[in-house]
Amino acid sequence: MIPEKLFFQFLYAWIALAVVIFLVLLRITVPYGRHSRNTWGPMVNNRLGWFLMELPVAIIFSWFFFRGSAEKSAPVYVFYGLFMLHYFNRIFIFPFRIRENGKQMPWLIVLLALFFNFSNGFFNGYWFGTLSPHYPISWFWSWQFIVGIILFFTGMYINISSDQALLNLRKGGKKGYYIPHGALFEKISSPNLLGEIIEWTGWALMGWCLPAFSFALWTAANLIPRALDHHRWYHRYFPDYPKDRKALFPGVL
Ligand code: NDP
Repeated sequence: MIPEKLFFQFLYAWIALAVVIFLVLLRITVPYGRHSRNTWGPMVNNRLGWFLMELPVAIIFSWFFFRGSAEKSAPVYVFYGLFMLHYFNRIFIFPFRIRENGKQMPWLIVLLALFFNFSNGFFNGYWFGTLSPHYPISWFWSWQFIVGIILFFTGMYINISSDQALLNLRKGGKKGYYIPHGALFEKISSPNLLGEIIEWTGWALMGWCLPAFSFALWTAANLIPRALDHHRWYHRYFPDYPKDRKALFPGVL
């Protein structure tokens, strides 16, 4: 059993690391997808890379969740179920839908993502499995749960439907990149990334605890710089890219 004090010391360090990573990612572009380069060492097939780097978080989270001694009430099972719902899509559906055309990503990205997923799976699994206080059934009527679950499903819808809209751009065996149109794409370059940030912010609100907020913070730390990279790339790649589109937050950034 890890003492609560030690757990929180690690968690504070983990949160501080998210801030550092955010600042680093504002300066470097992570080379996968449209930014893929082979300057980060040996490469792996894109689809396999996605599958391998995302699978462990579901296993680690479940391991710590179910082995933990905390009494688990219905709200905690809902947090668990929603986490798994997202990762079922990310592990078993998304990688098999991408039209990868032989694209590769560096193994180093897979290793870095594994580090993130192991840590995130541990912090949240151990918290909800062992350390978390009891959530009574009445938690379902708290403002945190109600606002959180609305945000979670709104974000999930935006994330999955926008990912699918991007994948549809290569329907019919097409290759390369196209300017996406429709729905939130008229306002921002990366609605899929915005959806993911909204989703985990909602999950953090529902859980109302530091480990869940650390996940939301890490998601934003990863995806805000990535959306800025995508946005700059669109402007370089397409001279006629719509000038009034923002990167991630409509009308703001
Ligand atoms: P992208 O938007 O870069 O790409 C999504 C898919 O659509 C890729 O297969 C990409 O192809 C394709 N695509 C994107 N834009 C175009 C276009 N203009 N024309 C044709 N095809 C296009 O997303 P990411 O790869 O960065 O992320 C994928 C998912 O993973 C997202 O849902 C994101 O939220 C999630 N994610 C979550 C993280 C977290 O910290 N929670 C971290 C990173 C990602 P290609 O690969 O060839 O570019």
